[in-house]
Amino acid sequence: MRFEGKVVCVTGGARGIGKAIVTLFAKEGATVVFTYHDSKDTALQLEAELCRAGMRAQACHMDVTDTPNVKIVIDSVTDTYGRLDVLVNNAGVTQDGFLMFMGEDSWDHVVDTNLKGAYANSKAVLPVMLGQKAGVIINVSSIAGFMGTAGQTNYCASKAGLIGFTKALSKEVAAKNIRVNAVAPGYIQTEMLNKVPEPIRNKFKAIIPCSRIGQPEEVARVILFLASEDASYIHGQTIIVDGGIV
Ligand code: NDP
Repeated sequence: MRFEGKVVCVTGGARGIGKAIVTLFAKEGATVVFTYHDSKDTALQLEAELCRAGMRAQACHMDVTDTPNVKIVIDSVTDTYGRLDVLVNNAGVTQDGFLMFMGEDSWDHVVDTNLKGAYANSKAVLPVMLGQKAGVIINVSSIAGFMGTAGQTNYCASKAGLIGFTKALSKEVAAKNIRVNAVAPGYIQTEMLNKVPEPIRNKFKAIIPCSRIGQPEEVARVILFLASEDASYIHGQTIIVDGGIV
């Protein structure tokens, strides 16, 4: 119960890696507010399951690309619970294609969701974290931001951007007892990976030294570690969780 009494916000928490993060935080005693965008039914189902099991979870709608909406949601969380201890910027999308053929709409959609979404949420939580003189922000990057992947210039730019964002924001707020870190998952079994055509997925598998796709919980456990007191001297880092690829 490392997070008893803590309030945690997870963006994109209804499914995939986000769902694993929400579930583990709730199991460890946190009050977890998690956001959904399209997956309303799945989100409400998860909220009900966790609450039925005696945990504390609340689903709410947020579009991370809509900065005023992000501020309204975060303000309502802090009004309701009086604090916010951990923010996990997890929401993310892909819209793949070679740059030669990539429309500006695809570029903007991916960068606005993955990178600007983290800007909007982090900016919205900072006043309360500064007031508390404590807080943790964790950004979900990707090994794509380290390696580059053909057909994903938008996604790789956004995820590499998050690594720089993490380092820079960490330096701005470390002295205020706010820790900012990131995780960079490799290939993890979620709908995002399922969207990749099977022959390409098989190629991915072939380059994983530990010979298997990762599970969402294996990323979530690292996020809980980074959010915990065990990581109290870790600032500005990106931890790779990829079965050995990078
Ligand atoms: P999924 O596609 O399973 O889930 C994506 C999540 O992002 C959903 O919860 C979705 O919410 C949310 N989301 C999308 N657009 C918005 C938006 N505009 N506003 C708010 N929420 C939004 O992906 P994963 O679980 O696999 O990915 C989670 C994170 O992990 C992402 O940042 C991804 O880039 C990263 N990652 C994933 C890897 C993988 O192999 N799976 C590898 C490396 C990084 P909803 O369903 O409600 O619309």
